[in-house]
Amino acid sequence: MTTSPLPFDITPSDHPVSDADREAVLANPGFGQYFTDHMVTIRWTEDQGWHDARLQPYGPLSLDPATKVLHYSQEIFEGLKAYRQADGSVAVFRPEANGERFQRSARRLAMPELPIETFVEAIDVLVRQDEAWVPPSGEQSLYLRPFMFATEVGLGINHPANEYLFMVIASPSGAYFPRGIKPVSVWLSKEYVRAAPGGTGDAKTGGNYAAAFVAQAEAVRQGCDQVVWLDAVEHRWVEEMGGMNLYFVRGTGEDAEIVTPQLTGALLPGITRDSLLRIASDLGHSTGEVKISTEDWRQGNADGTISEVFACGTAAVITPVGSVRSNDGDWTVGDGQPGPITQRLRAELLGIQTGQRPDPYGWMHPVR
Ligand SMILES: *Cc1c(COP(=O)(O)O)cnc(C)c1O
Repeated sequence: MTTSPLPFDITPSDHPVSDADREAVLANPGFGQYFTDHMVTIRWTEDQGWHDARLQPYGPLSLDPATKVLHYSQEIFEGLKAYRQADGSVAVFRPEANGERFQRSARRLAMPELPIETFVEAIDVLVRQDEAWVPPSGEQSLYLRPFMFATEVGLGINHPANEYLFMVIASPSGAYFPRGIKPVSVWLSKEYVRAAPGGTGDAKTGGNYAAAFVAQAEAVRQGCDQVVWLDAVEHRWVEEMGGMNLYFVRGTGEDAEIVTPQLTGALLPGITRDSLLRIASDLGHSTGEVKISTEDWRQGNADGTISEVFACGTAAVITPVGSVRSNDGDWTVGDGQPGPITQRLRAELLGIQTGQRPDPYGWMHPVR
């Protein structure tokens, strides 16, 4: 198998979206509704390994109805963002970290591992081509969605697929809170479980979401914005929220301790989570990866020892949690408003991502 970088075959679109239409989309992109002019595809087969890397016009795929992913969900994905920097250039937040996680997800789903250099190069090739789709500034971004799925045709289940397609698509993304930060309400799900020990909870795979929609719908029926998942065995330990990790602030001010549920194998190791552990610690806070129960949470809010709770992930960066609803009662987090530490961490992280603040960690990957 070759170790030299894969050559990309570049076919620019002959019908790109007009400048005027693109500007209209960028004025109000929302999330995940509009896609750029191009996409990347790379194939893998048992015989040839990774090959046939292309940048081509964005468009539909043609799949045999017996394609394995449609039946057995052998699929993984990633999510990361390219931001317009203060100097007008474009940079992607921690793409190597996403590349590493993509390899871990691939191992869990018995799929081939894409070299991290190829993962990053695929993103560079697409962002370079569709640079005009990176919104001008502020909290807007170009959301990148790398994914891979089984393309082998056949219904047999005695072995993982012997053919895969890796792709990257891109979608302009608006500021998550265009009218100011609004805390979310959460529903503690005791009926449904997202991930069990030994399962796929720490892999970024579509199947986890397929199994989660029913609980998210239940949260909405309960009048909440988001579901919070508890552990599968005792229904007691807090794991994560919908598609975001959770943080708890104990105490207030400079002495506040900032903790997040430990990685048990059942929750997704978020790159935003990891980045915030670093930033919070460098701001002088003590940090920790802990076990926290729903009872600890409720008691901490009741006696004031937990002052703030927030969720974090690529799409929304940081979202305050304002209230909790469960079968055992409802309560408010702090005064129900975004707390000072939540807002400070959000400003620090977004500052690095948009190039408004120095990047002491080397997290921003310039696209040239
Ligand atoms: C992607 C994801 C997260 C957040 O990860 P980031 O790398 O911070 O975007 C959290 N939970 C789930 C279930 C996810 O799929």
